[in-house]
Amino acid sequence: MQTAWNFATEQSWDIVIAGGGLAGLSLAAELSAPEFAHLRVLVIEPRTSYLRDRTWSYWSVSGALPQRWQGLAKTLWRKWRVSDASKNLLCESRTAYAMLPADAFYEQALAQIRQASHIQFKQGYSLHNFRSAAQGLMLEMLGGESLRCGCLIDTRPPTVQSPQEWVQHFVGWEVQTQEACFEPECMDLMAFDQQTKGLHFVYCLPYSPHSALVETTWISRAQHRPDYEAEIKQALLSRFKCEHYEITFREQGALPLWPAQTSPQPNVIKLGRAGGALRASTGYAFTATLWQAQYVAKSLQHHLSQSISLQNWIPVLPTISRLDDWMDRVLFRVLEDDWPAAPGYFLAMFEHVAPDAMVRFLSGRSTWVERLAVMNSLPKLRFLKAAFGGEKLE
Ligand SMILES: Cc1cc2nc3c(=O)[nH]c(=O)nc-3n(C[C@H](O)[C@H](O)[C@H](O)COP(=O)(O)OP(=O)(O)OC[C@H]3O[C@@H](n4cnc5c(N)ncnc54)[C@H](O)[C@@H]3O)c2cc1C
Repeated sequence: MQTAWNFATEQSWDIVIAGGGLAGLSLAAELSAPEFAHLRVLVIEPRTSYLRDRTWSYWSVSGALPQRWQGLAKTLWRKWRVSDASKNLLCESRTAYAMLPADAFYEQALAQIRQASHIQFKQGYSLHNFRSAAQGLMLEMLGGESLRCGCLIDTRPPTVQSPQEWVQHFVGWEVQTQEACFEPECMDLMAFDQQTKGLHFVYCLPYSPHSALVETTWISRAQHRPDYEAEIKQALLSRFKCEHYEITFREQGALPLWPAQTSPQPNVIKLGRAGGALRASTGYAFTATLWQAQYVAKSLQHHLSQSISLQNWIPVLPTISRLDDWMDRVLFRVLEDDWPAAPGYFLAMFEHVAPDAMVRFLSGRSTWVERLAVMNSLPKLRFLKAAFGGEKLE
């Protein structure tokens, strides 16, 4: 993908966005609007070219995406399955599950940013450090170059810091098969098996009878290192009866679920996974990140309309609701006590809660009644003990 940018020789910017991934590019696209044309904005990104490096999926609930990003999804499913060795729940929801290859997003975002002469892009650069300086911040790049800015938007994603940390980790292969192995009208949201080291499931987005993205996904402490490749091969063979295939795309991730929070600093705004956009129980951060970016742009516009200096701009970002986060922590505490029982808890939720209510719950959009329905589907004593039994919340 062509990403040629003119880079100014001056080293002083109103806003620097560190990271041109989902959060950084979506914010830069928001800031490409004419009302921000008087600002000097710089995006710093280590990668030198944009290729498809991941696949974003999300439930397309009403208002899932800001207007600017609507219509990018490539495939939609309304039928989906949650299963384990003994149960196979076929669900159908009004809300579709949508899939978007990252390159489609990158292409659209870069096209929007390229049209804005006040935004510049430095690829092949990494932010190393920053410190307060007169009227803003001094940023130091890996390699030694320094920049000055009024405000830093830091989207560098959190990495796994400790073996004890909770992580969602996965490897996915897109495969092209000789035999007709997949049912394109029904996706596998979670096909569980019983494990002792964490929650494990296979996820499959079937595009046609001959092609699909098949992923092996774990939620566990970071110290658990499974053999992902063997797991995908096994799933292809035993679950999809697929012997002859070509791998056309690979992706992988290790997403810390509750990354360590640093204390807020003046003039530094964290966005995306760095800014708490990831929902622990699902590993979803895509839609929340796009909304965060739009929120930051609106907050900036409001701030500037009041002629207040950038250094005093401190937007409070929308993050995962405290209640959903608390429910996720309680859930994980229960799961870790008895990993082999964990698939049963998920199946109970999907069995007893209506599919669209479940979809809203997974998307962080549920009503109180729907949250209660989810709680009601779970073994109450066990969860109450975990919630109020005085065990430490990590
Ligand atoms: C393979 C994969 C699949 C995923 N699938 C889904 C999904 O289906 N649904 C969903 O909701 N979520 C999904 N996620 C989670 C989440 O949506 C993504 O991680 C998303 O890309 C997060 O956006 P972000 O901007 O926070 O991070 P990123 O998109 O990773 O962007 C961070 C950027 O910072 C750059 N960077 C790193 N270090 C530096 C530095 N020192 N200086 C400057 N820049 C730096 C990186 O190169 C990168 O471009 C997935 C994650 C992965 C890894």
